[in-house]
Parts: sequence; C-alpha cells; structure tokens
Amino acid sequence: MSKKGFTTTILHSDRSKAIEHGALHKPIHTSVAFEYRHSRDIAEVFQGKKSGYTYARQVNPTVTALEDKVTAMEDGVATTCFSTGMAAITAFLFALLKEGDHFIASSFLFGNTNSLFNSLGNFGIDVSFVDITDTAAVAAAFRANTKALFVETIANPCTQIGDLGAIGDLCEQHGVVYIVDNTMTSPYLFRPKAVKASMVVNSLTKCVGGHGDALGGAITETGLFDWRQFDNLIDNYKKGDPRLWGMTQIKKKGLRDTGATLAPQAAHILALGAETLALRQERSSANALSLAQFFEAHPKVNKVYYPGLESHPQHAIAASNYRTFGFLMSIELHDSIDCFDFLDALELVVVSSNLGDNRTLAIPVAHTIFYEMGAARRAEMGIADGTVRLSIGIEDIDDLIADFERALA
Ligand SMILES: *Cc1c(COP(=O)(O)O)cnc(C)c1O
Repeated sequence: MSKKGFTTTILHSDRSKAIEHGALHKPIHTSVAFEYRHSRDIAEVFQGKKSGYTYARQVNPTVTALEDKVTAMEDGVATTCFSTGMAAITAFLFALLKEGDHFIASSFLFGNTNSLFNSLGNFGIDVSFVDITDTAAVAAAFRANTKALFVETIANPCTQIGDLGAIGDLCEQHGVVYIVDNTMTSPYLFRPKAVKASMVVNSLTKCVGGHGDALGGAITETGLFDWRQFDNLIDNYKKGDPRLWGMTQIKKKGLRDTGATLAPQAAHILALGAETLALRQERSSANALSLAQFFEAHPKVNKVYYPGLESHPQHAIAASNYRTFGFLMSIELHDSIDCFDFLDALELVVVSSNLGDNRTLAIPVAHTIFYEMGAARRAEMGIADGTVRLSIGIEDIDDLIADFERALA
C-alpha cells in the first residue's frame, strides 16, 4: 500500500490484498498443511525458488497478514512473528550469534530479557551490560568481536532512556547489528528505524494487542543493515536481497527450528487490537501524563519515574524521539506507606503483572517480576522495595485520579 497514515494503513491492510467473498478481515486459517497439485511446485517452494505455504510451524496466511501489518507499522522490509516477545528475542540470539561472539545489552532491561541474556554465557557468548544513559560507556563497550547491541526504548520499571540516535551511530561505525525493543513505545510512538536500528522487537502482547487477551512477538528488519558484512550467516540463506539475509536466517533457524510459532487465532486477535493502537496510545499517554503530574505534587509519593515530566533526566531525548511519553510509569511511595497496603486499597486499578492493557495495572516490582534477580542487580536498576510500577490504561482520567487519591489517603 502507498504511504498512508498509521491507522489508515493498518485498517485497510488486509483488504488491499484480495480476500475471498470480499471479506474485510483475513480469515483465521487453521490448516497445518497446504496442498500442491503440481509436485514440482512444492519442490521449488522448499528450495526457496518460489514463495508458498508449506507447513504452519513456519508459515501461515493469517500470521503473514499480521507480519505485513507490523512491517508497515515499523516502516520495515520484513517481519517474523513468534508465540511471544521472549520467543522473538530468543530466536534472534539463537539464529544470529555464535560461541566466541560478544553482545552488548542495556543494563536496564525487562526482567525475563535480563534472565535470558544471563544464560548466553553458557553458550560461550560474552555479554556486557552497560548503562545506556551513558553514551561514553556504551562507546567503550565495543570490541572486535561485538556482533549486536540490544536496547529498550523506555526501560521498565524506572523509565531510563538512552540516546538511541548516538548509539545508532556507534553501531553503524562498528558494523554491529542494532536491535531495539520497541515494546514500551510501540511503532506508533517511535520507529527505531529513525535512529538507524537494523532490527526491531515488539512484544505484541502489550500495547499492540492492547486488550491483554493474546500473547505474541515480532522482529522486524528495517533494511538498514548490510548483512554481507555479518559473518554468522549460513551460505544457503545468502540469496537474493542482502537486506533480508539476517531475517531469512531468523525465519529458518529461529522460527522453524525452535518452533516458537504464533497461533493463527492469536494473530487474528493481535491484528484486531493493532487497528486501534494509535487511538489507545494517545489516550493512555494523556492519562499517564496527568497522573504523573498528580503524583509529583503528592506528599505521599517520594519519586515519580515518567519521561513526560520535565524533572525526568532524559525528558529532552524522549521529547525529541517519541510522539508522546507512553503508558509506563513507576512511583516510589513515602516510607510511611506499605506498598502492599496501598495496592490493596486500589479499587479500580488492577494488581497484575501485564503491561500495555486497556486497563490500568499496578505491581510491586521488587517483590515480584524483579525478585529473582536479587537485591544487588535491583539496586543497579534503580528498583527500591517500595517501587510500584504502573501501566496506565484508557479509563476516564477522573476515575483513575480518584482511585489513587483514595488509596494514598
Ligand atoms: C513483555 C516484554 C517482553 C516479552 O514479551 P512477552 O510477549 O511477554 O514474551 C519483552 N520486552 C519488553 C520490553 C516487554 O515489556
């Protein structure tokens, strides 16, 4: 489809390719296998000479329709979807890194991503965790064998933000794959391609799906990286457009071999959610900014972490890179308040571990999702015992403020 606005593109994306009966939605294809009336055709598909559907662990038309939407949202060239966001990140590592490689990761990471990267040492891959808010520290982390660098757009839970443009320049200079996890901003608030990212991860489970009713993940190739300089590629996948070589290996090794396939039913639900991503993001961001201002002025809240506040250390970077400041916020309560009492006093806000739902969610992070990593690593990430993470939804703002006001009182 020619370049249209963000929402127009998603809404009309299925229809732009012929669907039987003039249906507006891509149907949920449940077939595992696909018939070939001419046996030579199936051979050509397997040999990569023709495109076609073979077996649903690897390709499914409903999933392909979602992949095309994500590619359009990120202004990329190709996307592979997975069963979860974690599967997408795992597939990237498994498909593209090797023993003896070096990998740079932000030290401010989603808890499971941190846990995953800590396992890389078991496979002979060296990982450096760096403070991405310190560009000089990032610059100093590159080595001759560095293959990839991984950052998140807004770190969870304390909302640290790196100078992603400067980091993109460093990756370009060093010929390193720059992979940006865009989950906290979503392609509506930010396109990592703008800071020269070569690959973008989205946990579709969060705000792209938006309704907290389906898991899914995606990796998108932006087309900016020259894969001819990447020496971990298998010769078989170095065919055709070099911009797609890395993604081909992710599809073949990362998806086909691991089998972390997105179900077509989930793909359909996520595609429906994506239609209203922009509308929901505008609303949740506006709600989040109002709440951040409310908390900042409240005597029982010690700290508010929200990039939309002028007091946020990376407010200026966020303002120049992101369309709005997103749905993620954390607060540190006054020492006189027990965070469990506070959470139990909330009536509307849901105590839950998810993010990017239409409903506002709250969780005491040190005791739950960041518990396993231990106190030392938590301190490094700025997580205190009284830190409460909030994922702001699309409720009416007066109701949200009233609920927090009452719980704090
Ligand atoms: C949730 C999340 C993931 C993992 O996604 P799942 O779909 O839950 O596997 C990865 N990165 C970030 C930033 C996330 O918030």
